[in-house]
Amino acid sequence: MDVVERTTTPFYYYDMHLLDETMDQILRHISGYPFQIHYALKANSNPHILRAISKRGLGADVVSGGEIQAAIAHGFKPEEINFSGVAKADWEIKLGLESGIGCFNVESATELDVIDMLAGQMGKTAPIAIRVNPDIDAHTHKYITTGTAANKFGIGIEELDPMVAHARSLAHVNLVGLHFHIGSQITQMQPFIMLCDTVNKLLERYESQGIRFPLINVGGGLGIDYTAPDEHPIAPFEDYFNTFKTHLTPRDGQQVHFELGRAIVGPCGSLIARVMYIKENRGKKFALIDAGMNDLIRPALYGAKHVIQNLTSLDQTVESYDVAGPVCESSDLFATDYQLPVTRRGDILAIRSAGAYGESMASCYNMRPLPPSVFQPEP
Ligand SMILES: *Cc1c(COP(=O)(O)O)cnc(C)c1O
Repeated sequence: MDVVERTTTPFYYYDMHLLDETMDQILRHISGYPFQIHYALKANSNPHILRAISKRGLGADVVSGGEIQAAIAHGFKPEEINFSGVAKADWEIKLGLESGIGCFNVESATELDVIDMLAGQMGKTAPIAIRVNPDIDAHTHKYITTGTAANKFGIGIEELDPMVAHARSLAHVNLVGLHFHIGSQITQMQPFIMLCDTVNKLLERYESQGIRFPLINVGGGLGIDYTAPDEHPIAPFEDYFNTFKTHLTPRDGQQVHFELGRAIVGPCGSLIARVMYIKENRGKKFALIDAGMNDLIRPALYGAKHVIQNLTSLDQTVESYDVAGPVCESSDLFATDYQLPVTRRGDILAIRSAGAYGESMASCYNMRPLPPSVFQPEP
């Protein structure tokens, strides 16, 4: 609790031991396999988090020029950076080329032409992978499923042959692989098994045409247990990597890239907030806290649920609260009818599993300051 006295609420709190232990497990599971992990920066781009991850030798998955700069500034090797995104700006592509990033994950034929043109102007060759939309339903929230025909990501399987032929015909791009990413917060292995089957079929199909890919990128999306953060503080990496070890048949010398974000940083972060007021309205009790949707937007954006703990109430009696923030929006609500020990003004709450898509999505809406962050142990 001394961190609460030293820092004004709200703030993000990161358990750096848990982050390290998570990476230990990942590295143990991939050891001996041609697997490489690229951390998806958009999940959390706090510099201390980035340094803790790059130090362990992971690569980076980025979705903007700003993320290319942040990745390089905080220790990721340029050649281990993959750049995804459906609408890359010319300056971002040029920055990637100048920096010598490992791979552009290309999402449309026009983007391919633009990369080829810019690389030509710069006298460079761009390593590229084509992002394939495998039309697999990841059974996750509709805003975080990305691999079905209905959404904006990737090239449909039907259009893949002409796209591959086109890429191979261009002088300034080097087609090194195929890229997939089917969604986020995926907790069942079935969608990943379907993904492996799709990849295997495509590899066979292109092999029969004499085309080999040095690289297969299966994306990220492994989910975490938001309902029981203390029982399951680490994502089910064993199941996840076993799924790919069992179902994917990489060719000799072929590298398999994973781009994990949430599963690496989600569990290690909590948003710490102070209770400002308890308010009763027609028999309903509101715990109004000093953290808002600008600090953590997942509940408002995706209807996400986070475990909330009262760190200071010693009361044995439990009551039902709607936990809401100070922002002038009805969706600024972290939980409804949530059971907490009797909660009073001044109590400290922890909103758990907020390490991914928490701080990185924070905004200054309502002209609120961005939340600071605290690390244990300190960097
Ligand atoms: C967001 C994203 C990821 C990471 O997703 P997680 O669910 O956080 O693992 C990986 N690859 C791409 C292309 C992404 O856009």
